[in-house]
Amino acid sequence: MRTFAAMSSPLVRVAPAAVRCSSRRCFSSSQNLQATWGFIGLGRMGYPMAKNLRAKIPVEDTLFVHDVNTAATKQFLEENPQGVRVADNVRQVAEKAEVVITSLPAPQHVKDVYEAMLKPATLLKDGVSKERLFIDCSTIDPKTSGAVAESARSSGQGTFIDAPMSGGVVGAQAGTLTFMIGAAPEVVDQVTAVLSLIGRKVIHLGEQGSGLKGKLANNYLLALNNVATAEAMNMGVQWGLDPKALANMINISTGKCWPSEVNNPVPGVIEGSPASRGYDGGFGVALANKDLKLALKAAEDANVKLALGESARALYDAVEKAENCKGKDFSVVYRYLGGKE
Ligand code: NAD
Repeated sequence: MRTFAAMSSPLVRVAPAAVRCSSRRCFSSSQNLQATWGFIGLGRMGYPMAKNLRAKIPVEDTLFVHDVNTAATKQFLEENPQGVRVADNVRQVAEKAEVVITSLPAPQHVKDVYEAMLKPATLLKDGVSKERLFIDCSTIDPKTSGAVAESARSSGQGTFIDAPMSGGVVGAQAGTLTFMIGAAPEVVDQVTAVLSLIGRKVIHLGEQGSGLKGKLANNYLLALNNVATAEAMNMGVQWGLDPKALANMINISTGKCWPSEVNNPVPGVIEGSPASRGYDGGFGVALANKDLKLALKAAEDANVKLALGESARALYDAVEKAENCKGKDFSVVYRYLGGKE
């Protein structure tokens, strides 16, 4: 069994709230207690996550950030001048930081970024001498994630865990994200301590890869529920039912689900929902389709039979391309189906 004592210091320091108090500053100044953190991918999710991380870690700590989009790193440094350094590349982040968090668009980005961080396998010599903790918050497929975890493990440079998230950009900004993690039991406390600086809940689902499996199963269900709700609401409204009355009835009946109750696709049924503001904001149809495709691929890899997945994928592909739907919240499926607005 591997031990994580060597890399545990910054994590232990932030674990319980009590440890984060100023008592640590009482240590002798000869001890180097500053920790270094890394964040790669300052996009819609990553930017506010890194901002919240910087705000929560001790002021003496340093956060190394990197994004291929230099406008994002420039803005981040301007907005968070204290204790932030922009790294020239991802390898530099991995050399300097004991804990590295990544939030990247898709599997290939995660693969490329970790390859650049892990090779050559001299991180412990070229940079901080502690084993790294790599936390990947991207939504990717479990197979790619597993391969990256194995390269981190076999190179002897640290541990890689999957921590996909839910809560969207609003949750990232508010620091209320939920993380679903796949990690060996001995690192769960440490990972939970780190992610609690960025989000509200951390759910451990099992060994590495389990967080992604949970996330993809959930988002598969969500993608289907969204279509089924749009179809059922469209059906009822075309039959002449009042949409609000229909939604209220469904929501105390067996058809109730998140799309019917919280994100109803018929404009006016729920005040403030994306449907009630022209389907703007919310969970983009492209992201919903991305997650659906990842779920289908992961199911295929594991020989899991799905009856509805392919037709849902074809529908989302068409919705994503339709002129009056693209870029909108995924409840726009209702509009695509010709629903009355
Ligand atoms: P995004 O595209 O806004 O951000 C990704 C960032 O990664 C960009 O700033 C991009 O420039 C950067 N990047 C790409 N390649 C890079 C590389 N090689 N090196 C460094 N930086 C690189 O995406 P997002 O919406 O922030 O989502 C991030 C991840 O979180 C995705 O996997 C997504 O599926 C998942 N997610 C998103 C949401 C959401 O509501 N946006 C919700 C839950 C999960």
